[in-house]
Amino acid sequence: MESNQPLLAGIEAGGTKYVCAVAETPEEPLMETRFPTGSPEETVAQTIAFFREAMENYGPIRAMGIGTFGPADINPRSPGYGGILTTPKEGWAGFNLVNAIREGLDEPVPIAFETDVNAAAIGEAEFGAGKHLRNLCYVTVGTGIGGGFLHDGVPLHGRMHPEIGHMTMPDFDAEFGKNTNVCPFHPSCLEGRACGPAIEARWGAPGDTLGEDHPAWTLEARYLAQGAINLTAAWSPDAILIGGGVLQQYGLIDRIRSEFETLAGGYWSLPPLELYLQTPALDQRAGIVGALALAGRLLQG
Ligand code: ADP
Ligand code: ZN
Repeated sequence: MESNQPLLAGIEAGGTKYVCAVAETPEEPLMETRFPTGSPEETVAQTIAFFREAMENYGPIRAMGIGTFGPADINPRSPGYGGILTTPKEGWAGFNLVNAIREGLDEPVPIAFETDVNAAAIGEAEFGAGKHLRNLCYVTVGTGIGGGFLHDGVPLHGRMHPEIGHMTMPDFDAEFGKNTNVCPFHPSCLEGRACGPAIEARWGAPGDTLGEDHPAWTLEARYLAQGAINLTAAWSPDAILIGGGVLQQYGLIDRIRSEFETLAGGYWSLPPLELYLQTPALDQRAGIVGALALAGRLLQG
């Protein structure tokens, strides 16, 4: 069933699960699968098996986009391009994902390799809440905290890639009689204070069991608002999208806006906070849609 639209392939290469898809238009995959992330060999074998089956159904893949968990070598000029760096995830440190995928496919396919959060930012910029915005931050608050940034529409890499989860935070815990930090590297960073496991460690129960009026959400909102203030100060985005499991909490985004207003001190002239601070419109699909959109960008040159 070949059509004249080029077939795009996408991989959301997460630390806990892999999502693979093929599509002609990124928001509408023709075929998709998801499976838990195992050893690199098992995971790549499952990935290749899926794409082989997809090619039997839809013809050759013209380009592939990968949004990966990190840290990862996403610099195309680096000799280690395509590799996963210092992860504690068994077997993955030093594994070159791009090379393994290339070797598994019979035909040479151009592959774009990005961080999961940069890919998600592209998904939102092309099809979601960031449509038409050139400078977009995408922050995910889940098991960890990560962030991607599109600068004038292009993913920001820097020397490696930003790791906004490890930006330093003031000690907002003290006001609540707590002192929780789950990052083994830093005494008070955003991830250490505000990721899902930090909420659970502080209050003795996971976030999804804490009621809407629990003080956890005021404190959580303050940390995330301070994170958004720092991103505003450093990067001057058009909008900041905040998603991930923790943002499933009803009303949290409103609390973040209200804390942001207080912490911003009236300094910045910004769009209305309902637009400036939003949850992602594609929700959990931003990563895979973004990976497919990355493939599409390769073909646009
Ligand atoms: P990952 O970061 O592993 O991809 P998620 O983005 O789904 O995973 O985030 C998982 C985290 O989100 C867990 O720490 C979980 O406790 C938290 N979480 C899930 N649902 C809610 C909720 N409704 N309110 C607050 N926290 C939640
Ligand atoms: Zn840290």
